[in-house]
Amino acid sequence: EEVVNRIAAGEIVQRPSNALKELIENSLDAKATNIVITVKAGGLKYLQIQDNGTGIRSEDLEIVCERFTTSKLREYEDLKEICTYGFRGEALASISHIAHLTILTKTAAAKCAYKASYENGKLKAPMKPCAGNNGTQITVEDLFYNVIARKKSLRSPTEEYTHIIEVVGGYAIHNSHVGFTLKKFGENTDLKTPVNSSVIENVRIIYGNAIARELMEIELQEPTLKLCLRGCITNVNYSHKKGTMLLFINHRLVDSLSIKKAVDSIYSTYLPKNSHAFVYLSLELDPRNVDVNVHPTKHEVQFLYEEQIIEKIKSCIESKLLSCNS
Ligand code: ADP
Ligand code: MG
Repeated sequence: EEVVNRIAAGEIVQRPSNALKELIENSLDAKATNIVITVKAGGLKYLQIQDNGTGIRSEDLEIVCERFTTSKLREYEDLKEICTYGFRGEALASISHIAHLTILTKTAAAKCAYKASYENGKLKAPMKPCAGNNGTQITVEDLFYNVIARKKSLRSPTEEYTHIIEVVGGYAIHNSHVGFTLKKFGENTDLKTPVNSSVIENVRIIYGNAIARELMEIELQEPTLKLCLRGCITNVNYSHKKGTMLLFINHRLVDSLSIKKAVDSIYSTYLPKNSHAFVYLSLELDPRNVDVNVHPTKHEVQFLYEEQIIEKIKSCIESKLLSCNS
């Protein structure tokens, strides 16, 4: 059974940035306003996230890494209404099957912090009281130590670190009220956004002034489709090789090939060939129309009324580009 769990976990978490995304979402769910991430070897050796959120009660620490343990849905019906990031209490469980996981946490009500280490979903030893700030610090060490195939396929810490920067940068832009810090262990900070910043300011910090000063805001409400769109786009070519597309659906960083294609097709009409833009889109959809049961391995998200919604997004971006080019 352990082997099966491990294989499943290795499918859910395919690279360090997948684990980090889940951990960031947990910190945001816990209402953190400051998140500090420390990484060794692209997260393969060491990945730590420290937040100042609600913390985990000591009585919950014992079970927090068991599968389907979640404080976020009380009844099955909630699945339809779910508005937090967490979906099925699988993230910590999965990570504990394929890495050495340690949690240090303190709630505001507790007299002291507690530290606990996990293996295969269970506490490795009794948890220990210790000193610590309010909030939660989660340390993931030796990711994939027991998943040889996965370990072999991820040979480049540099590439993994690039994915980590993308994830942290994306969440920092989308959650500009939260301060994010990213650094390599023992080195200087690579990325730092202040608490209560703005989208534009964070784009400046992360992607540079050349892009930030070209940003145009877009906004669209479409009640009949239960669609709400916010975002920032540029209409200029910039030197990034690939262009940037940050897509959030209901506050979760996701991929959607169909949205990406649609956006690319507009830009290829309005911009010179091979030019690329910065596009940040935040879509809020009726959670009932988004496939919440999508398995975490499917990084592609699915939603209802896709064609109509994509048409709306296209015309919104198109009219913005037209208005600024005329
Ligand atoms: P889910 O997010 O789907 O509930 P996870 O496995 O990601 O499942 O987390 C399990 C539970 O652990 C959460 O429901 C939450 O109660 C607790 N938890 C995890 N990370 C944090 C954190 N950073 N701060 C407070 N509680 C946390
Ligand atoms: Mg979670």
